Amino acid sequence: MVGATLAAALGDSRLHVAVIESQPLEPITDQPDLRVSAITLASQTVFENLDVWDAMRRQRATPVERMQIWEGQSVLNYDSADIGEPCLTWIVENRVMVNALVTRLRQYSNVELLNPAQLTAVDMDADRVRISLNTGPVLTARLLVGADGADSAVRKAAAIDWRRHDLDQSALVARIRTEHPHEHTAYQHFLPSGPLALLPLDDLHTVSMVWSADRPRARVLAALDDPAFNLELQQAFGSRLGRLQVAGPRASFPLALGFADMYTCERIALIGDAAHTVHPLAGQGVNLGILDAVTLAEVLQGAIGRDIGLHPLLRRYERARKGADLGMQLVTGGFRYLFGSEWPPVRAFRRGGLTLTERLLPLKNAIMRQASGLTGELPTLARRTANRLQRRSDPRPRLE
Ligand SMILES: Cc1cc2nc3c(=O)[nH]c(=O)nc-3n(C[C@H](O)[C@H](O)[C@H](O)COP(=O)(O)OP(=O)(O)OC[C@H]3O[C@@H](n4cnc5c(N)ncnc54)[C@H](O)[C@@H]3O)c2cc1C
Repeated sequence: MVGATLAAALGDSRLHVAVIESQPLEPITDQPDLRVSAITLASQTVFENLDVWDAMRRQRATPVERMQIWEGQSVLNYDSADIGEPCLTWIVENRVMVNALVTRLRQYSNVELLNPAQLTAVDMDADRVRISLNTGPVLTARLLVGADGADSAVRKAAAIDWRRHDLDQSALVARIRTEHPHEHTAYQHFLPSGPLALLPLDDLHTVSMVWSADRPRARVLAALDDPAFNLELQQAFGSRLGRLQVAGPRASFPLALGFADMYTCERIALIGDAAHTVHPLAGQGVNLGILDAVTLAEVLQGAIGRDIGLHPLLRRYERARKGADLGMQLVTGGFRYLFGSEWPPVRAFRRGGLTLTERLLPLKNAIMRQASGLTGELPTLARRTANRLQRRSDPRPRLE
């Protein structure tokens, strides 16, 4: 998702871009992908400016108009009307995002898709990086961007340290049928063993479940048969959506926080999960990656006629993004501990915090705008201006 976003942001430039992806592209079927992402309004703007949003909307993208977060009797309600937006976020299947981006990439003559092809080795000399693929060819380039996820081979090849903190949790995902319509509301229940989120999908009676739980509990939940799982889910979530029934398979993802010591070095840049991973409870991981991608694209587009692999140039991207990424990691990590603690003072503090935020509308709106990606320093492609027109008629010369 993040690498394809970068390539799309460099589409139509005079840079020659090769996208290397080891997994074959999965076609979109009637059955929604188990992996979905909450896409912020900032990411939506990026996709609009890259001309891929309409394709995502035509497939499946569900607006979230309200959110309800609760623990015990303390409830926090968000409504998009309070911030004057038609929705707070979108739920989009990962497969839908990738397909829309890849379709766009195929329209660019300067972008080459190597798929399936796996990067197997990286060699660097003073002015080039050589990339070996399992399919045979060796590519040479000025710059190699690692958008290859948390277990990044590019990061390892560049010997960049990765600070990893195992959360001892796994996220269980599944599609759930609900008795009552979800009415475009996202629900999150903070449980002692981790948050349980039900996110609305296109069908009003189907939601996507992301249940983060301590690993032993997650293993038990994953192994239950459907009727036993339904009982556990119902007990954990409550009756807000009536009777809940799992529909289809469940999948489990181990959760860990990770942060690369450096995002860049000579001839290498890391973006997305290759540079940082955050807890999924705030639905921000891929959104941070999308902002990384368009920030890096902006730096590269601005380096007309220069060597785009030089470290001082790449550092501009790193300086622009590292603080925001680290901040989000600390916030989501902090939330995970705040809501995971059963120590009475912490419990009282968080319940009081939910109640207080619910009552203080300015604070609530500020949090909502922040989570929607509408505040802070945004790269040009994430700003709601006439970017699209600006980009198309950009008179600046393009990179060689
Ligand atoms: C349960 C769960 C729920 C989540 N929900 C949300 C959410 O709601 N919102 C949100 O913003 N984020 C969410 N996230 C986080 C989000 O999924 C990640 O941040 C996102 O996938 C990162 O995207 P990426 O493109 O950087 O990396 P990845 O998605 O990991 O993609 C990396 C790609 O690189 C390819 N690759 C790897 N190695 C090689 C190689 N050697 N050669 C060739 N190709 C290679 C892989 O095949 C893969 O396609 C969630 C995560 C989990 C686990």
